[in-house]
Amino acid sequence: MAETPDLTEMLRGAALRVTRPRVAVLTAVHSHPHADTDAIIKVVRADLPEVSHQAVYDSLRTLTAAGLVRRIQPSGSVARYESRTGDNHHHVVCRACGAIADVDCAVGHAPCLTASDDHGFSLDEAEVVYWGLCPRCATHPPT
Ligand SMILES: [Zn+2]
Ligand SMILES: [Zn+2]
Repeated sequence: MAETPDLTEMLRGAALRVTRPRVAVLTAVHSHPHADTDAIIKVVRADLPEVSHQAVYDSLRTLTAAGLVRRIQPSGSVARYESRTGDNHHHVVCRACGAIADVDCAVGHAPCLTASDDHGFSLDEAEVVYWGLCPRCATHPPT
């Protein structure tokens, strides 16, 4: 599978010690985009049954700080993690069921919106979330 990034190399490239929990967490985030912590713990435990919740939390924090994992948290949702980093992509979020999908950045780089007044701040990011209903919820509104 030529498409699969070498996760061990990614850890080394970020000057992180290669540990089994880190590799397992990074693998889980790659295969389950926008998964929350509980889902990631479940996936990781399928491979490493003995891994603790704390080890998964710590790995997620370390990987996020190193820029290998991006943490997103739409309002009303728990934190979710994805491996698609550094491209300033945005998300569509379903108000009804919480489904999330990626949308390419409208401009291609951050910040993709120009503030009408930057108040003298040096701005480097605009957090864009598109809210609406996913196709399933739009056809079958939850009662
Ligand atoms: Zn939905
Ligand atoms: Zn995403």
